Amino acid sequence: MKAEIIAIGNELVIGDTQDTNSAYLSSQLIELGIEVNSIKIIPDEINVIVEAINSSYIKSDIILITGGLGPTEDDLTRYAVAKALKEEQYISPILRETITQYFKTRNIEMPESNLSQSMIIPSAEIIPNEVGTAPGWWIERDKKILITMPGVPSELYEMWGNCIREKLQLKNNDLNIVIRTIKTFGRSESSIAEEIFDLFGSQNPSLGIYVKPDGVHLRIMGKDKSEAKAINLVKNFEEQIVSVLKPDIWGFDDDTLEQKLCDWMKHYGLKLSIMESCTGGLLSDTITSIEGSSKYFKGGVVSYSTESKILLGANSDVINEYGVISPQVAQEMSKAVRVFFDTDIGIGITGVLGEAPVDGNQPGVAYINISSSSHSRDWVMDFRRNRSIMKRRAVSSTIFQFLLFLNEYINDNKLDTK
Ligand code: ATP
Repeated sequence: MKAEIIAIGNELVIGDTQDTNSAYLSSQLIELGIEVNSIKIIPDEINVIVEAINSSYIKSDIILITGGLGPTEDDLTRYAVAKALKEEQYISPILRETITQYFKTRNIEMPESNLSQSMIIPSAEIIPNEVGTAPGWWIERDKKILITMPGVPSELYEMWGNCIREKLQLKNNDLNIVIRTIKTFGRSESSIAEEIFDLFGSQNPSLGIYVKPDGVHLRIMGKDKSEAKAINLVKNFEEQIVSVLKPDIWGFDDDTLEQKLCDWMKHYGLKLSIMESCTGGLLSDTITSIEGSSKYFKGGVVSYSTESKILLGANSDVINEYGVISPQVAQEMSKAVRVFFDTDIGIGITGVLGEAPVDGNQPGVAYINISSSSHSRDWVMDFRRNRSIMKRRAVSSTIFQFLLFLNEYINDNKLDTK
């Protein structure tokens, strides 16, 4: 089955609001094995909406519309669908009662305009909205399915999860879909694509490559009537990819770098501290976003100025000799914070994420050191993008290097589980 998504709203077209609904729906549809033909972002203009519906109706089996279901004059989705399907709208007594009750239970007087949300067309079935007033429509006609959903993301997620996902799954139940995501770090998209070039032409299983903040992800998707066959298709591709990219792979499916770090540190009973400069606390923030981080994370310091680095124990002679943005100072920072907090492992990060070079270091350059009393690992990030992307990249890069460091540390120290 092939689907199209139509996102309606002037704010989406002019770029005031990002169309996150389509991205969400698209990834959900792929999981159901429904191919997404296209995503259209269109303004609140009746003729444009009708034209978009008509053209999608010819090309696809399923059309998902988001937005434009509100009670105001510029919410035109209901009118447009009725016009495209040449059906008359009428007031649904059930919907009118639901909407009236929605306001009554909240002790709010219902604006007259909200009654427009109780309109429906003969071929539409109501999709209830548990968190708002705009109901969705489920229409099956001419062997096509047309679905309307609110634009407010929380309402759309609720409607999708509570009703639409399952209904669509039932319509597409002849195929089993198996998806496996392989997560790599430290290699560019093109160098990975080159190495496994032969696998990309395949239809089933299919292979997608995506650049994410935590590295390059490869997504294998296999489909078959038999679940075992679908699993085998994916497994075969996975084995080929792993055999080529093993050193660059850090996880699969829902794994996150910070969760892996947390699991390992807790597993081996190790303690960690951080002194970070250019990342402004993002590394500590990322690490503490995982439940249970207090078991191993003793403290993080944002030592943004040179004085604060010295205050926490970094050697001022080293700073004067090599400059504050240098591998030597990253080493000083990781050692100083490790001693300060009395931890097994320390991390130091110093770099330039602003616009202008500092002491000959270009923006995007960060020096990272991870150390214990017996081991030390240096890493240079050289990645120029906007400030927040560079910070995120420095954090991902540090955690990835940290996992490599830990592997060595655990093996060399022959550590047992605590
Ligand atoms: P409601 O009547 O519940 O407000 P609606 O269908 O009329 O729903 P819209 O008025 O189109 O929804 O959009 C409401 C808000 O939802 C917008 O202001 C915008 O912030 C957000 N929104 C709309 N469409 C999208 C989208 N495709 N992706 C992300 N956010 C969206």
